[in-house]
Formats: sequence, C-alpha cells, structure tokens
Amino acid sequence: MKQAARLHNVVGNAVTKDKFLVLGTGSSQLYQALLYALYPSESSHRPINVVAAAPYYSEYKDATDILQSRLFQWTGDAALYDKDEPYIEAVTSPNNPDGTLRVPVVNSGVEGKIIYDLAYYWPQYTPITDQLDHDVMVFTFSKCTGHASSRIGWAFVKDIEVAKKMIRFVQLNSIGVSRESQIRAAKMIGVICGGYKNLKSIESDHLFFDYCKRLMKERWEKFKGAIEKSKVFTLTKYPTSYCHFNKDLSEQYPAFAWLKCLEGIKDGES
Ligand code: PMP
Repeated sequence: MKQAARLHNVVGNAVTKDKFLVLGTGSSQLYQALLYALYPSESSHRPINVVAAAPYYSEYKDATDILQSRLFQWTGDAALYDKDEPYIEAVTSPNNPDGTLRVPVVNSGVEGKIIYDLAYYWPQYTPITDQLDHDVMVFTFSKCTGHASSRIGWAFVKDIEVAKKMIRFVQLNSIGVSRESQIRAAKMIGVICGGYKNLKSIESDHLFFDYCKRLMKERWEKFKGAIEKSKVFTLTKYPTSYCHFNKDLSEQYPAFAWLKCLEGIKDGES
C-alpha cells in the first residue's frame, strides 16, 4: 500500500525507506503474525517469552495465550523480566492505557526482539518528536483516523524473512486483507495527504491532523477542568515537546485518560 508510505512521509513519524510493508486485518492480526514470525529459527522448541511494561494494552496477554502456542507465551510485566532467555517485548508508545511515551525496559543477558506498537504516534495525540526507525513498527488506521471497523493495519519490517513469514500468517489467517477496506483506506489517505499538498487552498483548520488535534485539545481542556474540580482524581502529567509536524511546542492529548483515585476510596470506578 503505497499510500501508507505517503502518509508517513507527510507526517514524518517513521522512516519507511529500506523496510518491507506488511498489511494486516487490523494491527491485532499483525501482532499475532509478528509473534509467529519473530520466533527464532535456532530456538530449542521452547516458547519465547512475551512481555510488556505495565500498565500495558489489555489485549496483548490474551492475544498471546489464546491458542496456547508452542512458539510463544505471555510472561507479564517487562520491568520484572529477569530470565536469560529469548523474549519479545511489546513497546507501545504513546502507551495504551496511560498515554506515556515508552522505550524498551527489559534488562536481560539475552538480546530480545522488540515490537514497536505505534498505534497512537500521530500528531493529534502526541508531538511528533522523531522520525522513528526501528526494525519492527506497527501502525493502524483505527487510531490514525478512527476507522477501526475498516480493519486496516500495517507494519514496517526491516528483515525480509520476518516480513515473508508475516505475509504467510496473514494469508492463512484471513486470506489476505479486504480489498474493499484497502481501497477505502487508500482513498482517505489520499484525501488527507492531498490537503497537506494543497496547503494554500485549504484553511489549516480544515487539514485533517490539525482539525483532530484541535478537537482533542478542546476535549482535554474541558476534561482537565472537570477532574480538577472533582478533588478525587488526579491525571498523569505529560511533557511538552517540539512537534516537527506542527512546528510548535505541544502537549500530549492521549486517546485515553489514566486517572489516579485518592487513597481510601474503595470503589473508584463507580
Ligand atoms: N495496539 C494498541 C495499542 C491499541 O490500542 C489497539 C486498539 N485498541 C490496537 C493495537 C489494535 O488495533 P486494530 O486491531 O484495530 O488495528
């Protein structure tokens, strides 16, 4: 999907050169394709440990363990991982659920493989501080534009053997990726990128990421005001950084709010 690379070139959030692009039926499918593809061929048939630093995206554990695979197993919090055995660390940045910016945290004598889940690394959620250039980077249309039901995800992968295995997984799992969804996504990406190409004829307020960021900012400001008044909850503090895409200093506006409840409240949820 050439349009995905075009989108990254406009936003500047990932280096796409010298990488293979693998399409998936959502990035959820690509996560499982990666667990399969990253299994080391020289391994002694023991499941590889899969970890993520807490709090982590709630689906990882079940998506890893549902088939009780002989290739991989969920091992929990990456910060507590202390085995000298092969591992895969999922690094979600900005993170689901707390919006924090993440780097790998495993401290092991063995070199691990890293899956960068960059679902939320788009300008409406966070300043674009770097053009990321990792071996495995996963994105999804679900968070980029909000079209989750189109089920389009993509991964940039450096190693051709990993990419080939992933494609085989996707092929077996869902006989490829819906062409209708691909056409829809390509059309929308074309419209978004076209807007930035014709900057002069379109008010910046109507450009896709500018518009989304303004909405996120307005909602976060209202929400922060309500939280301050509540006197019961506190919010995570996010740093301000320079965004190369917006060319300004900007805060983060995460997709989720990670609230802390005052001590002594037993049922904060209700
Ligand atoms: N990764 C993260 C961090 C997510 O929050 C989500 C959606 N909640 C996904 C992956 C999965 O997205 P999808 O399968 O819709 O592409």
